[in-house]
Amino acid sequence: MVQSAILGFPRMGVNRDLKKATEAYWGGKVSQTDLLAEAKRLRLAHWKIQKDAGVNIIPSNDFALYDQVLCHIQDFGAVPERYSSSNLDTVDEYFAMGRGHQKGGVDVPSLEMVKWFDSNYHYVKPTFQDNQTFKLTSNPKAVVEYNEAKEAGIDTRPVLVGPVSFLHLGKADRGQTVDPIDLLDKLLPVYEELLVQLKAAGAETVQIDEPVLVFDLPAKSKAAFKPAYEKFASLGDKIPKLVFTTYFGDIVHNLDALPKDIYGVHVDLVRNPEQLETVLGAIGPNAIFSAGVVDGRNIWKTNLKRAIETAETAIQRLGKDRVIVATSSSLLHTPHTLASEKKLDPEIADWFSFACEKATEISVIAKAVTDGPANVREALEANAKSMQARATSTRTNNPAVKDRQAKITGEDYNRKSEFPVRIDQQQKKLKLPLFPTTTIGSFPQTKEIRLHRSKLTKGEISIAEYDRFIEKEIEDNVKIQDELDLDVYVHGEPERNDMVQFFGERFDGYAFTTHAWVQSYGSRCVRPPIIVGDISRPAPMTVKESKYAVSVAKKPMKGMLTGPVTCLRWSFPRDDVHQSVQAEQLALALRDEVVDLEKAGIDVIQVDEPALREGLPLRAGEERTKYLDWAVKAFRLSTSGVEDATQIHSHFCYSEFQDFFYAIAALDADVLSIENSKSDCKLLKVFVDEAYPRHIGPGVYDIHSPRVPSEQEIKDRIEEMLQYLKPEQLWIDPDCGLKTRQWKETKEALTNMVNAAKYFRAKY
Ligand code: GLN
Ligand code: ZN
Repeated sequence: MVQSAILGFPRMGVNRDLKKATEAYWGGKVSQTDLLAEAKRLRLAHWKIQKDAGVNIIPSNDFALYDQVLCHIQDFGAVPERYSSSNLDTVDEYFAMGRGHQKGGVDVPSLEMVKWFDSNYHYVKPTFQDNQTFKLTSNPKAVVEYNEAKEAGIDTRPVLVGPVSFLHLGKADRGQTVDPIDLLDKLLPVYEELLVQLKAAGAETVQIDEPVLVFDLPAKSKAAFKPAYEKFASLGDKIPKLVFTTYFGDIVHNLDALPKDIYGVHVDLVRNPEQLETVLGAIGPNAIFSAGVVDGRNIWKTNLKRAIETAETAIQRLGKDRVIVATSSSLLHTPHTLASEKKLDPEIADWFSFACEKATEISVIAKAVTDGPANVREALEANAKSMQARATSTRTNNPAVKDRQAKITGEDYNRKSEFPVRIDQQQKKLKLPLFPTTTIGSFPQTKEIRLHRSKLTKGEISIAEYDRFIEKEIEDNVKIQDELDLDVYVHGEPERNDMVQFFGERFDGYAFTTHAWVQSYGSRCVRPPIIVGDISRPAPMTVKESKYAVSVAKKPMKGMLTGPVTCLRWSFPRDDVHQSVQAEQLALALRDEVVDLEKAGIDVIQVDEPALREGLPLRAGEERTKYLDWAVKAFRLSTSGVEDATQIHSHFCYSEFQDFFYAIAALDADVLSIENSKSDCKLLKVFVDEAYPRHIGPGVYDIHSPRVPSEQEIKDRIEEMLQYLKPEQLWIDPDCGLKTRQWKETKEALTNMVNAAKYFRAKY
């Protein structure tokens, strides 16, 4: 029999229940007992959903109150001393590492949190000491949750992050020099002990996640698989059978590191279907093959016919008993259930599949390949119909968009003149002083703003009333900028709920959900809009507000747009056309907006691309080069329709531009603002080395904290920047938008920033 497996299930619950419970606990509104009871209720509910869907292999220990890697940090006794010495109970110590703790005389910041591979999920980085030791906790979560499921009559497959990934994804603590991978020998006994306990509890198999195998690994990490998995193999029947699990990439380049003597191997065949043959040829003569055929990262209904064909290929080679059909990765990255979407157009809803629906798909695929398709004929026929409907729908296909794409010429990617000509004309128009000051776009999103938006959604106020409120906000923002004496103004983005959703709601080709939340980190969830078809812009999207802002401002006003790559990356993309095609469509739609803004008298237009960097493929080489090529082209296409005298800005929320510099330069933006306040100004040297000619505003202060930077601090920062950048090149701005800040600290910080700029203006 062909088994079906799910690699992990979303934890939040149907109504973001886990978010509500944890936040209530943090706010002191519910007790720890209540929080843990709610967590248990959710785990049981999720196991039951999978069981009822007919899935054979159901994961346990995929749950986490905050993050699954953080759970391992705690259970392995890898908690840095600053937390373990705080006298917090286990749960509070755990949250302290995840989000910091400032209460009852304890004041510790959180551990670093970073993106989980190329997803929008963030994990807590294991942080090691030079004298690091490990010790298994007396009550390992994996064992507790396995038993919990067993008591409920559900036999699960526990999920563990494997030792090589756990170490490779970690780092040395501040001031420490240890290379995490060198800790392998010390860590393995903890895994051994845990696996032995799981076996004793009754676990037959364990899913051991080693996703780092998809990276270009440094030799030392790559070499670590052998001793680790030889050790496990030597334990024989004392431990459960291990399914070595990879996802988000192919493992062909690292096949030599794949453990030889392993029970099973899982690969992601949604992302890299072409690795199938090679991996089938590389696994051991008796090894189980787990085929990841249902997408764990997107919301589209699985093409069952195609998934079944893939599974059949594996079965022909290995036989039914050696194949598992599975989700490509954990379903953590998908929303809970489509059943919650009451407002979706039924035509479109028929194309989607969220976590609960994917559970059913997996079980249908397994039945089809076990007993033959006749046994699930109805499901297969319905699925084929949905596939057909989506492929041919007018919502998916817009000939006018395709036609326009076909007519793009090389010239559409280029501004009329080179930068020196442009900046001259821009300067004549804008008349900006040296060290011009500006902000990145948003101003504090106050309670009042959110209240008005929600009233509008509920129909409690009219559109006209709402518009009037927004105008008033813009007017206030302009007045504040007058007082602050900034040089290039923004309207403050009060009308925007989210920088992608706002545009998605105005493009054709997008769909919106009401409940399709996915976890981003901790209790934070996002609800990405969905690109369902060819994208176009039926009408101007931001011109009204920007025009109004210009009319009340005495100084240049920036128009503010989200770039094509960021719109794409922070949405659920289509899976039926290449992402470059979707980016190009977004770019054309945004290009129209840019031109319309220019026509409306907006002389400075900023196109934000904070997500450009995160879209970078995980491995260096051809795939990356190709990505950067189409991503840069999309940006240029969106911004090149304007006259030389119109100044194009772009903004990026990271500063690791070293390995990425040529792409930033290729954008040909007149002015770049980059998050930089937390990094070393030495990084700016690359702009000198590469003789970057255009203008740059590296952020002078961090906007993530309410802390107000002093004028002197900002001056010191600018002084440092001037070691690398020419005075006529340097803009003065914060790291990013200010929407999460309060007004009080915003005004104080910007006052200090403007004064610091004025100081240098007087000096040069
Ligand atoms: N213009 C946006 C803002 O200020 C940019 C946000 C971002 O880069 N993440 O909010
Ligand atoms: Zn930003």
